[in-house]
Amino acid sequence: MSERNRIAVIGAGASGMTAAITAARLGGEVTLFEKNDRVGKKILSTGNGKCNLGNTDFSIEKYYCEDRDKEKLRKMFQVFSVWDTISFFESMGLMIREKDGYLYPYSEQASSVLDVLRMELVRKNVTVITGTEIREAGFDQERGEFELSCAEGKTWRFEKLIISCGSPASLKKGEGHGGYELAGKFGHMTGKMVPGLVQLKSDEPFIRGLSGVRVKAGVSLVVEGEERARESGEIQFTDYGVSGIPVFQISRVAAFALEEGKDVRILVDFFPDQEQRPFSWQNRVRYETQADKTLEDYMTGMLNKKINMALIRRAGLKPGIRASEAGWEKIREMMSLCRSLEIHISGVNSMENAQICAGGVLLDGLSTELESERVKGLYFAGEMLDVDGKCGGYNLQWAFTSGYIAGSAAAGCNVREIFPDPAENPQEEEEEHSRIRIMEKADSREGNTIC
Ligand SMILES: Cc1cc2nc3c(=O)[nH]c(=O)nc-3n(C[C@H](O)[C@H](O)[C@H](O)COP(=O)(O)OP(=O)(O)OC[C@H]3O[C@@H](n4cnc5c(N)ncnc54)[C@H](O)[C@@H]3O)c2cc1C
Repeated sequence: MSERNRIAVIGAGASGMTAAITAARLGGEVTLFEKNDRVGKKILSTGNGKCNLGNTDFSIEKYYCEDRDKEKLRKMFQVFSVWDTISFFESMGLMIREKDGYLYPYSEQASSVLDVLRMELVRKNVTVITGTEIREAGFDQERGEFELSCAEGKTWRFEKLIISCGSPASLKKGEGHGGYELAGKFGHMTGKMVPGLVQLKSDEPFIRGLSGVRVKAGVSLVVEGEERARESGEIQFTDYGVSGIPVFQISRVAAFALEEGKDVRILVDFFPDQEQRPFSWQNRVRYETQADKTLEDYMTGMLNKKINMALIRRAGLKPGIRASEAGWEKIREMMSLCRSLEIHISGVNSMENAQICAGGVLLDGLSTELESERVKGLYFAGEMLDVDGKCGGYNLQWAFTSGYIAGSAAAGCNVREIFPDPAENPQEEEEEHSRIRIMEKADSREGNTIC
């Protein structure tokens, strides 16, 4: 083993374990530090305990980063794509199943994903030091080595260092910032961070009345009067606001806009699968045939009772009056609220409730190999970087991609030589795809996908 191949990885999450395994497979002598008493704790809670580890419906548009970094990101996913994630896990014995593009361990147990990673760390002789938080890290110019030390004062020296400390998302308040502090010691800047894949809060008084309702809906995010994002799927009303996958998807855009003091609203369409014309026509027929009913009864049979009541009140009407009393124009106004109920957004839920943290260590200042341009031999990986993905396996994909790149580059390999750009070799890409064993075809009942 070369003296210059001693590699430290700080943080044993999805990205750090991938980096450690990759570096060790390529001949590195790897030590992996983890402050918790066991590795990969977060993986166990992913995908509602099933771990949605990737998605075959991949495009760079599933990710958020600075515009200037998009090309860098695109190149990185060419080096290690969703197909490489499948191969990587298959190489460790994990069987994978696909549901509508979403990838899960065949066992549907996140613990299987963690177990194969843990076993591979052992097989590749990675030294895993748990219960040890690295507090200080520096580069000794004279010796050309990184020096790490933990809270207890113990120190270690390495030729290469990978920092993959994750983010504060889903941790207790105040926790999870250590990685940014270490990055800062090497002169790496951290951009603004907000909770991502998180619930939205609303100060609208009617929200409480809707608490507990789950409904399929279209959701548009409007910032300062301009539509910025649109999603659909099942949303859930809570006593403080709105949750559900479509809400998670738009939350980071809402969070950044709120940070900037902008006006943020969502427009909820309770009939996302209905064309406007037939919908309007049906409404007219309803009025012609049901106008003798009270508004409460008039709305019965359309939507959840709590939503019906909220819409009646929102239109400035009383549930006890007859539809004919309200008149067609007012009824039409109320029905238009079904397609576009405006809800003012006052905030997003806290980082402790978020699945990811949007923002982080800036990619500017890092190469495509995720090596620091300030300190040679220093690499970063995972969620602590200023890249975040949508819900659907994209964040773990980023953890694996960035971990693979940092690990192989730290081990001294040219990542492009190991995984040639598939776009340059379509036949190879085809072979790569054919290696995929998709064990179960989509059980594509709507709402079955797990984030
Ligand atoms: C509830 C929940 C569900 C999710 N579901 C999915 C999903 O289904 N699919 C998906 O793609 N993504 C999902 N995500 C997001 C995904 O889990 C993360 O993006 C990913 O795990 C991040 O991996 P990481 O290695 O970058 O960070 P982490 O997993 O956070 O790992 C970082 C590790 O570094 C350790 N550490 C930090 N500082 C130090 C230090 N100074 N010294 C030593 N150790 C340190 C931490 O203890 C931690 O173990 C989910 C997240 C949550 C919270």
